[in-house]
Amino acid sequence: MGTERVTFSTRRFLVGKAGPFPRLVFREEVMLALDQFSHLHSEGEHGGFLIGRKHELKTAEQYELTVERFVPIPQRSDASRLVIHQDHYRTVELALKNGEEVLGWAHTHPGFGVFLSNFDKQQHQRFFPEPWQIAYIMDNQAQERAVYRLVDDEWRRLDGYYVLRDMAENEVGITSGARTGGPWLRVLATVLTILVLVAGVAIGWPLVRDLLTEPEPARQLAVEPEPVVQQAQTEETSTPSVVDAAPSEVETEPRVVTITPPPTIPRYVDYVVQRGDTLWSIAGKLWGDPSLFRLIAEENDIANPSSIRVGRVLRVPADPHQR
Ligand SMILES: [Zn+2]
Repeated sequence: MGTERVTFSTRRFLVGKAGPFPRLVFREEVMLALDQFSHLHSEGEHGGFLIGRKHELKTAEQYELTVERFVPIPQRSDASRLVIHQDHYRTVELALKNGEEVLGWAHTHPGFGVFLSNFDKQQHQRFFPEPWQIAYIMDNQAQERAVYRLVDDEWRRLDGYYVLRDMAENEVGITSGARTGGPWLRVLATVLTILVLVAGVAIGWPLVRDLLTEPEPARQLAVEPEPVVQQAQTEETSTPSVVDAAPSEVETEPRVVTITPPPTIPRYVDYVVQRGDTLWSIAGKLWGDPSLFRLIAEENDIANPSSIRVGRVLRVPADPHQR
């Protein structure tokens, strides 16, 4: 027969809040490259150009920027600030492909927060004067990111942005199994995942919180463990930040689940990777902040965060800020 056809579907994950136009979209590989870059440069300021395309949607005011490439600017490793020269800009401009534009720039602020220094502002005005051109600041130590642009002499911070991912239909391992196993496998997988999530919420959070506020944690162990009764969340409320047009395949009725707490206090919960999951979406589901995905990657020794196997059990911190 013929060759196997690979089909792609696209998913967008919202980081932050959806704001007014312009809509900013980073391709996932660019996001990962930027994250890697800011990890490699943990001191001083380092950065580069953001290259991509500008699409007009309905009107000239409604447009979307898609960041497709990051071009680092070579600098001394101990440089205290990122200095863009005219030569850098020209080199990048000459290398633009059809339809590409310099959408802005990105640079690191390791440990000193996300903002634009006066020098940053002057540099932005000189090289990126258009109202749609962006400055992306990354503070890796504080796990903070921010996007600014200059509109009519006024600096504005964007409420959020999207991360775009192309997914091959056969990229994930469960595809064929799900077909032969029918929808019940999915129902089972979803119920199990909800159980894990509920267990994490029901057991992990109160006990961790109690431990922090309770001066005598030993008393906890003497108390007979009582079953915790918790209502399962619906699919909708557990995935608030995944933007996905695909209809939900499993109707999740609210159900009562009884769980006996284990003797030890779990600082971690297990999460079973489902079809369509990414580290982004999981971080969003569990913590409401997709940009914390690197914590999951680190905890589970995942070298390539853009590829995770369906069915894999991830060890996930119950509270990303209490590790
Ligand atoms: Zn700066």
